[in-house]
Order: sequence, then structure tokens, then C-alpha cells
Amino acid sequence: MEILLAEDDDGVAGALVEVLYDHGHVTRRVTRGRDVLTYHRSSDLLLLDLGLPDVDGLEVLRRLRAVSDLSVVVLTARGDERSVVRGLRLGADDYLVKPVRLTELLARIEAVTRRTAAQVPRAARTVRVGDVEIALDARQVRVDGTEVELTAKEFDVLAVLARRAGTAVSREQVLDEVWGDAYHAVSRSLDVHLTQLRAKLGRPELLTTIRGFGFRLGA
Ligand code: CA
Repeated sequence: MEILLAEDDDGVAGALVEVLYDHGHVTRRVTRGRDVLTYHRSSDLLLLDLGLPDVDGLEVLRRLRAVSDLSVVVLTARGDERSVVRGLRLGADDYLVKPVRLTELLARIEAVTRRTAAQVPRAARTVRVGDVEIALDARQVRVDGTEVELTAKEFDVLAVLARRAGTAVSREQVLDEVWGDAYHAVSRSLDVHLTQLRAKLGRPELLTTIRGFGFRLGA
């Protein structure tokens, strides 16, 4: 398996590359978050440290998830609850806190890989809700066959809901995925985007607000 390792600490990276090699994995090691976004396409799994020198690992994960379903195991010294929850919410398949036992890390990598192989694609590339069609890769939306122009943020919000169509999605989840954090100011901006989105789609019954929790697209 080809593993992309994002780790700025030479000592940690060296040990990991060696043990992964001993277990049949080829590792490409990068030290910066932006390199993850450059090299992820040629990898089968990403091992992601969060304390990277340029872009925070959680932000790397958020940007990666907008374009890729790559398996991600977070490997970090950051063990506080908020970070773990955000890591998983942003789409990490597993979250390990350093120091980690190497045999456990290998077992976790295998488990994640097994799950991913057994899965249908995590995100269907086109989601249909009523007569609304959302092409996630092309970032296009059609209502009754006619393309609707959305801003980048409006599309991002819609995409978060579309990936879980028919399910209630919490405000925090949308804020985390689209903005990276649930700041108060951004929270209000989410409502503005939703109002716009509803107006542009012209299908208010398909985009429901669940009071005190969040939103749902579709029945
Ligand atoms: Ca680090």
C-alpha cells in the first residue's frame, strides 16, 4: 500500500517510515500541509499529524475532504476532546494520540483499509433529491433540468447536506466542514447562505430547518 505521511518531526517520521516499510508499505513523507493537497491522489492512505508548520492538520483534512475520499488516520499529540471530535467530524477514519504503539498503528491502518475496501463510495458523486440534482465533483446544481448558479459557499453548504441527504445534519457539522470552525459570526453567515440557497433552489420543502439542531435536505 502507498501511504502518504504528513509529519514534520524527523525522528517520528523516520521511525514510522521504517516500520511501515517492514510491513510492506511504501511511504511518501511530506512535512507541510500543503504537500498533502499536492500528493494525496497517488496514495492509498494518509497518516496525518495535526501540528504542521504551515497549515493546521484539521484544516488540511477539511480541504482534502472537499475533493477526496482518501482514507485518513490522524496521528497527533493533540488528545483533547474538541480536537478528536473535530477530527472525526471532518472525516478522519481513525484518530490516534501520540505516543502510539506501532503494532496498534499497523492494526488500525489495516482496519481502516478493510472498511474502505468493503464500502461503496463514501459520497455518491451525484445526489438527487426530488427534482434537484447535485453533481458533487462538477459542483453543479440543476433544478428541474435547469442549472442554478450558486456561490462557492452556498454550494459547499448544500454539498454537506447532500452527502447525507435524508438525514439531519447539525449546525456544528456544517460549520466545521464549510468554515473549519463554529465561530459565532460565521454561524450567522450560515443562516444567510441558507436563505439564499432556499431562494435559488425554489424548493423550500426540500431544505428543512430542524429547530435547535440543524438542517436536512430531502424527506
Ligand atoms: Ca508536528
